Amino acid sequence: MSAPIIRSLSELRSMVSGWKKSGETVGVVPTMGALHQGHLSLVRAAKEGCDRVIVTIFINPKQFNNPEDYEKYPRTEEDDAQKLSPFDVDAVYVPDGPTMYPEGFATNVSVGGLTDVLCGAHRPGHFDGVATVVSKLFMQTQADRAYFGEKDFQQLQVVTRLAADLDIPIEVIGCPTIREEDGLAMSSRNLLLSDRARVWAPELNAAMEEMADALLSGGDIADTRAKAIARIERAGFTEVEYLDLRACDTLEELNAPTRPARLLAAAWLAGVRLIDNIAVG
Ligand code: AMP
Repeated sequence: MSAPIIRSLSELRSMVSGWKKSGETVGVVPTMGALHQGHLSLVRAAKEGCDRVIVTIFINPKQFNNPEDYEKYPRTEEDDAQKLSPFDVDAVYVPDGPTMYPEGFATNVSVGGLTDVLCGAHRPGHFDGVATVVSKLFMQTQADRAYFGEKDFQQLQVVTRLAADLDIPIEVIGCPTIREEDGLAMSSRNLLLSDRARVWAPELNAAMEEMADALLSGGDIADTRAKAIARIERAGFTEVEYLDLRACDTLEELNAPTRPARLLAAAWLAGVRLIDNIAVG
């Protein structure tokens, strides 16, 4: 059965308050649409963990530091609704711009520290946009649990921090990255890759896996990074924005995987910015 598409906040609120009165738990899966198996894995986890599930679809202008990137972001609402239909979710919340940011909207949520590095350093304002919209979605849906992908590892840490700092009574749950068979992390942005670029794209993950193995065998961070960057660039990527080994919890930079660590990367391929991250050890 097709999930009901809810566009107004008042309708969402009355739906949720009915569920809450009956003592049902509510899970939310925030997305920007162009749904793929990565998103659907979050929906599956939410269905398993909660009585009621809301999927949100909102392409949040505030988190795009580049207007052209916002313009060309894939918009596939009908397809998305179809992909969700087997999951029997309770609501697909698709607010429009003025519902999220009515005239006079003036509040900005900014998480310090964690957002100074990696994507935060390369995309000014991005995480303020994410933190602001996620705070609103948490308040609007009143969800007990929220499901986010490890694919956006820094975002997962930022959202976890903001819920704790603002005493929002929601449990943030991280779910593993879903990949294509060739290792490429699924992403809505993969739709923007040309056929040729799609063939090269998995080299990012392959180079990261090779670097992680080398680090675990005691390899030097500078040497292993240089080798990985060379491999990524040979595959046709034009710029590696970062390729860092970082602590899982604080995201501070590490020279060796001496504590729970993650390798995180962002790189440009044929005009498309791809990100990926993997556990090291
Ligand atoms: P987005 O629509 O790109 O904003 O992503 C919505 C949610 O889906 C975020 O929590 C992402 O981390 C998650 N997500 C995106 N791609 C994947 C993936 N390949 N595997 C798991 N989760 C993902």
